[in-house]
Amino acid sequence: MIIVLKPGSTQSDIDYVSEKLHEKGLKVHVSKGEERTIIGAIGDERILREASLAAYPAVEKILPILKPFKLASRDFQRENSRVQIGDLTIGDDEVRIMAGPCSVETREGLLQVARAVKAAGGTFLRGGAFKPRSSPYAFQGLGEEGLKYLAEAREETGLYVITELMDPRDTELVYRYADIIQIGARNMSNFTLLKEVGRVDKPVLLKRGLSATVKELLMSAEYILHEGNRKVILCERGVRTFETETRNTLDLSAVPLVKDMSHLPIVVDPSHGVGRSDLVSPMCLAAVAAGADGLLIEIHENPEEALCDGPQSLRLSEFAELMVRVKSLIEALGRKL
Ligand code: PEP
Ligand code: MN
Repeated sequence: MIIVLKPGSTQSDIDYVSEKLHEKGLKVHVSKGEERTIIGAIGDERILREASLAAYPAVEKILPILKPFKLASRDFQRENSRVQIGDLTIGDDEVRIMAGPCSVETREGLLQVARAVKAAGGTFLRGGAFKPRSSPYAFQGLGEEGLKYLAEAREETGLYVITELMDPRDTELVYRYADIIQIGARNMSNFTLLKEVGRVDKPVLLKRGLSATVKELLMSAEYILHEGNRKVILCERGVRTFETETRNTLDLSAVPLVKDMSHLPIVVDPSHGVGRSDLVSPMCLAAVAAGADGLLIEIHENPEEALCDGPQSLRLSEFAELMVRVKSLIEALGRKL
């Protein structure tokens, strides 16, 4: 960390700041220039509460050197993390396909979708039983009944289940049914919930917040990792921009960026990224080309009748066609399904 003192700072200001750094076990390097004095703090600066020094009148600014996240960083772990789910890993050469309805609606519909996912080569069935809807009057999900349908579909098809946890009070319930616990975009900064899933031994898919930077996404991942759960998968699902033609703007640069900044796997959700079914397939292909470790895709047996996110849901036939193209792209890239 570099601490820049204001012009006119005195020796007692330098001594005060140096003493605070020494107290925390950091080494101090003072550099006096013509106009400014700069103090370098050497050691793990994250133990310092930056704010307390910044409040000292002689301090002009503080420039952190170390990232505000550690366990999630590529510096901490050079090799890619591999998250194990049953007999599958995420973060290897494979591109994992996770597909299903936005929300679990009916038993029959879900089973039909699950069979289509399996037949097309997918390995995960997605579907929300607890839905974070923007309006309190919109369908909120089936709760445990929906989780039971997901479990039945897993039993029949062998697909793994990914489903969202919204409330720390439902952790035990969702834990019992899910193979991957999804934390939705609206909860990326719900630190109580992040700590909660940090204490369970089940993979967590953490979605990027609606207006979050990649650095903020990694800091949220750090909350989970710090509690002890190292099975974290990140998800790019678009962010809000000035564009109004699409629901969000899918930030595919986040994929190589995350791979540079972090060792964690990253999956792309083009469905929420664009919000229009006609744009989903091209963005799925683009996401694979960008290096995504998986795709999270909304599909529905009858999108016109969907209770949630119908306009962005692919029909089962469209999904099957997309998968043919995804497979050939994956092969061309020397990766596997
Ligand atoms: C979802 O995956 O159904 C969902 C609600 O997504 P997000 O949290 O990204 O909006
Ligand atoms: Mn949705």
